[in-house]
Amino acid sequence: MDVVVVGAGIAGLSCARALAEGGARVRVAERGRVVGGRLASKRYDGRYADIGAAYFVADDPGFAAQVAKWESGGLARPWTDTLRVYPGGEPTTGPVRWAAPGGLRSLAADLAQGLDVRLSTELASVPEDADAVVLAMPGPQALRLAPPPAVAAVARAQTWKPVIAAVLTYPSRQWGDLRGAFVNGHPALATVCDDGNRRGDGAPVLVAHSTAELAARHLDNPESAGPVLADAVREVLALSAEPEVHVHRWTYAQPEQIDGPYAVDGRVWLCGDAFGRPRVETAWLSGHAVARALLE
Ligand SMILES: Cc1cc2nc3c(=O)[nH]c(=O)nc-3n(C[C@H](O)[C@H](O)[C@H](O)COP(=O)(O)OP(=O)(O)OC[C@H]3O[C@@H](n4cnc5c(N)ncnc54)[C@H](O)[C@@H]3O)c2cc1C
Repeated sequence: MDVVVVGAGIAGLSCARALAEGGARVRVAERGRVVGGRLASKRYDGRYADIGAAYFVADDPGFAAQVAKWESGGLARPWTDTLRVYPGGEPTTGPVRWAAPGGLRSLAADLAQGLDVRLSTELASVPEDADAVVLAMPGPQALRLAPPPAVAAVARAQTWKPVIAAVLTYPSRQWGDLRGAFVNGHPALATVCDDGNRRGDGAPVLVAHSTAELAARHLDNPESAGPVLADAVREVLALSAEPEVHVHRWTYAQPEQIDGPYAVDGRVWLCGDAFGRPRVETAWLSGHAVARALLE
């Protein structure tokens, strides 16, 4: 069986890996210059910061087994079960959040090892020369490849919100044991995480994620959201120093959850994090479910 997977985010890579392990011939086409998609780490002044997913959880036994492999290889580590909630700054305890010392993208790079991944390869239509094609990406991106009707209908039914991420580099650490925080009711700021703490290198770097409302207003000029997010972090965490600011725009950041593990029409499949709670684990599971169905 020849399969083309379009998209080398965590969903596409989980799918491609499982297919390859099951004996299928798989090619992965990725429009970006690196793998990972929204599992993204970008280098600023020689250091990687996680600018997409902030961390991940591993509730599902199948995904937990993958995470255990990453942990034993030193790629992932349990980070924290306690974050703060603002206003107020009270701690809130939840599931263990996992982080990656080398940046979360290193986990995607690990999955991609040994696979036939073609980077900087943007597909504009569904390839004809494969027994199956897996579109592993947000529905609005999949629609650009003109998929068949049942897949197009599911892609069209997805609703997505944007986020702008700001990487804030300070002269020194001045926020104590923050780890990460949810910010409720703020017009600009949704979350802020201590990137030095989650990565484990102690760098004085925070990564802020905007509200969808702020991102929508600044989508055409994301740079202009940088100072707004830096001010919001200063206000919420009562900081004094000025950070250096870098921003990244995620036009399709967060989907509304839809039913089912994937969509399919003939030989074309659609998977990704919209098929469940929108998170890394869901994307991995969705890609894996497509691979299992194809191998059956
Ligand atoms: C700001 C932000 C914060 C987040 N925080 C968390 C969190 O804390 N915890 C958590 O679990 N999850 C979080 N998430 C969600 C998590 O990042 C995603 O659920 C997961 O990474 C989605 O993976 P995916 O493979 O489904 O999609 P993507 O990562 O979007 O992968 C799709 C890939 O397809 C490629 N592509 C698209 N079109 C084409 C084409 N035509 N040709 C070739 N390639 C194409 C893209 O370049 C991309 O690499 C966050 C996401 C964002 C943006």
